[in-house]
Amino acid sequence: MKVKSEIKLIEVIIKKDTCKGCGLCVEVCPKGLITITSGDINKKGYPYAVFGDPEGKCTCCAQCAIICPDVAIEIRKSV
Ligand code: SF4
Ligand code: SF4
Repeated sequence: MKVKSEIKLIEVIIKKDTCKGCGLCVEVCPKGLITITSGDINKKGYPYAVFGDPEGKCTCCAQCAIICPDVAIEIRKSV
């Protein structure tokens, strides 16, 4: 018997100290997986974006990375 297994690993890396907390990535993510810290600030003094996906909902659409004006988001995937 053949068992087909598919493993999809997605990593959304947000460079904390490059982020200026503009929130564009938060608005564009169709799955609502990015939030802006409240209270925590980065080296530049801005609140910053954080990716969280405990249920594996990220589709790797990369819209967050594309819209970021500061190129602070990197998507890594392996299938
Ligand atoms: S890759 Fe797409 S689904 Fe995943 S966090 Fe970015 S915008 Fe959201
Ligand atoms: S779009 Fe870029 S700069 Fe703006 S909050 Fe998201 S990661 Fe930070």
